[in-house]
Amino acid sequence: MTGRIHSTESFGTVDGPGIRFVVFMQGCPMRCLYCHNPDSWDINGGTMMSTEEILDEYERCRAFLKNGGLTVTGGEPLLQKEFVAELFKKAKKRGIHTCLDTSGVTFLKERAEEFDALLSVCDLVMLDIKHISDEEHKKLTGHTNKNILDFARYISSRGVQLWIRHVVVPGITDSRSEWYALGSFLAELPTLKAVDVLPYHDMGRIKYEALGIEYPLAGTPPLEKDIAVRAKNVILQGLTDALKNPSRQK
Ligand code: SF4
Repeated sequence: MTGRIHSTESFGTVDGPGIRFVVFMQGCPMRCLYCHNPDSWDINGGTMMSTEEILDEYERCRAFLKNGGLTVTGGEPLLQKEFVAELFKKAKKRGIHTCLDTSGVTFLKERAEEFDALLSVCDLVMLDIKHISDEEHKKLTGHTNKNILDFARYISSRGVQLWIRHVVVPGITDSRSEWYALGSFLAELPTLKAVDVLPYHDMGRIKYEALGIEYPLAGTPPLEKDIAVRAKNVILQGLTDALKNPSRQK
């Protein structure tokens, strides 16, 4: 089976545990205002690669991938979930740790079983929750967050380990109440293993210029790192309070 691939990276340090081989899938239906990979949006772009070609690349750098494994990110990997499922199935047969890094945007609770083949070969899912408010999520990404929150619940219900990622953007996801509400939601996820809170940066800006697309967050400054630390503390407080008092959960 072949998939449409944006690029690969042989020494990823921020895409799951340890040092990882990272596959960036081509194509994404979201339009997050802070996206730093607009060149991955086009579903007709990228190059075709087979699962075997990717695993051959993995094997060539296996010696360097300490305590890591294989991460598939994007773009949006769920657009090619059959391909990712086959890749992960083969990877697991070789004893490789598998991590899916996704926005969850294509998940539908009514068709949840279509995601089972992939989830059954994921050791870890890293899921972005971009905004806990549905209204604000639509403004930030062009999509509802309802199915994404459903996907988080579904992943956990299948017993798959979950890392949640959240980007703090000045003026968009920087309110205490939003952070706290996100933490309350996380209490619904029994397989939650980590929460990554990342400060917004504008390093993708140059790609917008190269593609001739207006940068949507022109004028928004990068976030100071200590605000991301504060956000994480509030999220964890929301989580802790909700676990102590389940009636606070949504
Ligand atoms: S989901 Fe990821 S790749 Fe897609 S627009 Fe958002 S940040 Fe960019």
